Amino acid sequence: MVSTRPRVGVLAVQGDVREHAQVLAGLGADVELVRRPIELAAIDGLVLPGGESSVIDKLSRAFGLQQPVRDAIAAGMPVYGTCAGLILLADRLIDGIAGQETFGGLDVTVRRNAFGSQVDSFEADLRIPVLGDPPVHAAFIRAPVVEAVGPEVEVLARVGDGRIVAVEQGRLLATSFHPEVTGETRFHERFLEKVRVHA
Ligand code: GLN
Repeated sequence: MVSTRPRVGVLAVQGDVREHAQVLAGLGADVELVRRPIELAAIDGLVLPGGESSVIDKLSRAFGLQQPVRDAIAAGMPVYGTCAGLILLADRLIDGIAGQETFGGLDVTVRRNAFGSQVDSFEADLRIPVLGDPPVHAAFIRAPVVEAVGPEVEVLARVGDGRIVAVEQGRLLATSFHPEVTGETRFHERFLEKVRVHA
């Protein structure tokens, strides 16, 4: 029998890999943990987790994953990035550590650790019209913000002061916050829908 379960990967070099894998499996996906380039060939979509973007960047380069992930994004693989994952998807990064690189693909400028030390971590209810009526309860943990977006990028959510915290560009979806830790599944469902359409 041919499986209709979407096959998705979670980049598993550092960060909240298990939380994403649980949400995705709960939504009916076949989940692969991606640590080697060859594992990218077996999936139709990829999640870049939260964690520490500079560490994920370094380890991805050390494991020979940077170019294969860039190639997969360029080939149109759907990708969802949360927090550090948003940073890794950004074409332009402000306040990265010296020498920090991103995979890129998303035509945005992102500022790392943008909320500063005083409001390092906080939660907020966000209205996100494309996800329907109930607000999204969002956890921000040393979160980045999107400071500028290119013409192809749709802004999905802003915090109260107007700063951009969720964006979409075709098959790429990214949030400053962590739906995978608050029981919010609508972003993962939206990502899996892209995977189903493009697999
Ligand atoms: N501050 C982290 C970074 O620079 C991101 C934090 C997170 O993913 N929760 O990557």
